[in-house]
Parts: sequence; structure tokens; C-alpha cells
Amino acid sequence: MHEVIVIGGGPAGATVSRILAENDVDVILFEKKKVIGLPVRCGELLPHPSEMRRLIPKVKDAEELIEPPKNTLANVTEYTELIDPIGNKIKSRFKSNIIFRDKFDQALVKGAMDAGVVVKCSSPVISVSGNGSVHVNDMGTIKQVKARVIVGADGPLSLLTKGFRENYEFSVCYVSIMENVNVNENVVQMYFGKEYAPGAYAWIIPKGKHVANVGLGIREHFSDSVKIKKYFQKFVEEHPIASKLLDGGRIISSSSKLVPLDGPFSNVVIKQGICIGDAGGFVMPHVGAGIPNALLTGRIGAEAILNYLRGKGKLSDFEKKWRKEIGPRLKNSLRIRKFTDLLLSNGSIDSFFPKRGQQYFEHLIRCDFPFPLRLFSFYLNLRSKARNLA
Ligand SMILES: Cc1cc2nc3c(=O)[nH]c(=O)nc-3n(C[C@H](O)[C@H](O)[C@H](O)COP(=O)(O)OP(=O)(O)OC[C@H]3O[C@@H](n4cnc5c(N)ncnc54)[C@H](O)[C@@H]3O)c2cc1C
Repeated sequence: MHEVIVIGGGPAGATVSRILAENDVDVILFEKKKVIGLPVRCGELLPHPSEMRRLIPKVKDAEELIEPPKNTLANVTEYTELIDPIGNKIKSRFKSNIIFRDKFDQALVKGAMDAGVVVKCSSPVISVSGNGSVHVNDMGTIKQVKARVIVGADGPLSLLTKGFRENYEFSVCYVSIMENVNVNENVVQMYFGKEYAPGAYAWIIPKGKHVANVGLGIREHFSDSVKIKKYFQKFVEEHPIASKLLDGGRIISSSSKLVPLDGPFSNVVIKQGICIGDAGGFVMPHVGAGIPNALLTGRIGAEAILNYLRGKGKLSDFEKKWRKEIGPRLKNSLRIRKFTDLLLSNGSIDSFFPKRGQQYFEHLIRCDFPFPLRLFSFYLNLRSKARNLA
């Protein structure tokens, strides 16, 4: 019997368990991977702490949490560029830290272990029971382990949200690390266009001048039945701008994974515990970024669990707390995703991008949804409903 079981050793699981252990809570963390952080399934981009201050100024520790641990930083970029299918570009100042994601996850888990968390790798949890216990495969032996609280930090297809994912949208993402490329190490590039990344975007994120994280996302109802790897090959080999930067590049690792796109699941507090990070759907839907929210929901979750264990609060306080701290940004992000969906599905993106792109990119990337765009979105929504009725 432990006080808390954490399922998953990503940023969310490592953060919640570290903070709990620092407060003398007995925590055991189960991770199914043999080696934390591998393979890398991430664009490896974190907003710079100065950007976090702008994004969520009222959240006291956002800058501190987002600071990459020592020796996990690959590069710092100053700009983000958005590129349309015919090569038009808009650029905005947005400072980012580009990390080595495997080292980043490993450093966070080491922090948790140093605080006293028992970490069990190669130990997939296979089921969660209503009585506050889990069944875990510990080196081929199935064991039952009990705790007062169970934390789902096991990524997008969490065991704890199994019943709540009907009609919820995920995007499929493919990512690779490429060497021998020739990129601008100061600029993160995002490419959109249905030929390469239908419903989402492709990216080139420089880890240095000759190394980049290259990947893309696609969404089922925007794409043909083409496999994601084909879109990736097409982007790398045929995109008029990207193919030149990546020409001669060598892929040293590649992988794919799902990204939750509809915001937090309807029920992130359940009878046995709470869901944090991707397991709770805490990803910014308009860009698919989830590390900051994984860290933040890790900390917010730890606070709610501590109060609960000390008899000073309920687990459901987690819901109130995340809504207060990161709810407004998540809501805006979902609105922006729905707005860009409308632009993409009725073709207005081609006229919006050159006319209004530069004016609004800076807002949208920071999750601001200015009033004129809300009005425009409302109008597009009405128009698309009228078309569907006709
Ligand atoms: C291709 C791609 C690119 C991305 N790029 C970015 C980016 O640049 N910036 C950004 O902010 N976000 C990015 N994201 C999103 C980001 O990676 C996630 O939001 C983030 O990893 C969430 O952290 P987490 O701890 O909640 O979950 P994860 O990092 O998914 O960690 C979950 C852990 O749980 C383990 N696990 C799963 N099931 C079990 C089980 N049954 N038992 C035990 N362990 C289990 C997994 O092995 C994993 O280690 C990207 C996602 C993808 C797929």
C-alpha cells in the first residue's frame, strides 16, 4: 500500500511525483518504457520562460517549471515563421528553448527519484480497479498494488480516461531527428497546406545549424487515406522550401504518436484519482503543444492531492484549480483551432493568410483571440451552417 501511485514517467508524472515526495508523501511511479524519454516523440520546443510570463502572467511558478534542467538545452530560437503552400512567409518574434527531450524527461525523473519517489521502469500498468488498485506487469509477474490516490500521467490513451474518449479528436504526428541539414538556427518554421499536413502543420525546429527536429501532424477528416509517413516523405522531398533545407539530410530517429486536440477531457477527476498532462487532454489544441501544461497540471495536481491527503480538501479541487490557472488559455486555444478549421475547410485560408496573417499571427501563436477574429469566426460558422442546411 502506497499513498500515491503515478502511472507514467513523462513530464507530468515526474513533476507530480517529485512535488509530492518533497512533501513527504510515499509515491511509486510505474513507467512502461525501459529507458525514460526514448524514443523521442516530440518537436522538443518549449516556450522560453520570458514567453511563459507573457502567456500566463498570473501563474506564479510557470517560468520556473518551464526552465530546462541543466544539460538538456540544444538551442534557443528567437523567431517563428509560418509558411503557406506557395511559399509566402510571415514571421513573428517568439523566443523558444529547443531541448533534448530524452535528456529532459530523464532529468525530471531523476529529480523525482532524488526527492524519494520509487520509480519502476519496464513496468506497464495493465488495469486500474475501482477500489484504488492497479495491476502492473513487473518483469513478467502481474502484481496488484494499492494506493489512496492514483494519478493517470500515462499520455493520450490513458487507462483512466478510457470511457471518456468517444468522439474526441486526436491528431497523428510523425517526428524525426535529421542530421546534415542546412537550417536557420534562429527560426522555428511551421508549414501548413493540405498536401503536406492536412488539418495541422509540418515543422522544422532547429537543434543547431545542421540538426533539426522535423515532423508533421495530420487529421483524419482533413486527409485522404494516405499514411502519415507518405506525407512526411512528400514534405521532406517535395516541399518547394523545406526540401531545399533538408536536402541530403540523414534521419537518425523517427517515430509517431497521437496528440489530443479537443482540450481537457470531460472528467479529469475520477473516483480513484486524477488525470494530468496528455492523459487529461491538457494540450493546446491550436498548436499541439503539451509540455508546459504537463508540468503545470503536475504541480496543480500535486497541490490538490496534498490537501486531500492532509484532510484539507477534495480531489475535485484539481478541477477548480486548473480551470483558474490555465483554463482561459486552453479555452482560447480550442477556439482558435476551431477558427482555423473553418478557414481550412471553406478555403478562406488562402485569402486570410496574405491579407491578415501578419497582423494576427503574433496574437494567435500566443493564444490571444482578438475580438475582430472572434466576429469573423462567428460569421464563418454561420455561413458554414447555412451551407450545410442548403
Ligand atoms: C510528434 C509530437 C511532437 C510534439 N511536440 C511538442 C513540442 O514541441 N512542444 C510541446 O510542448 N509539446 C509537444 N508535443 C506534445 C507533448 O509531447 C506532450 O504534451 C507531453 O509529452 C505530455 O507529457 P505527459 O507527461 O503528459 O505524457 P507523455 O510524455 O506521453 O508521458 C506518458 C508516459 O506514460 C508512459 N505510459 C503510458 N502508458 C503506460 C502504462 N500503461 N503503464 C506505465 N507507463 C505508461 C509512457 O511510456 C510515457 O513515458 C508533441 C507531441 C508529439 C506526438
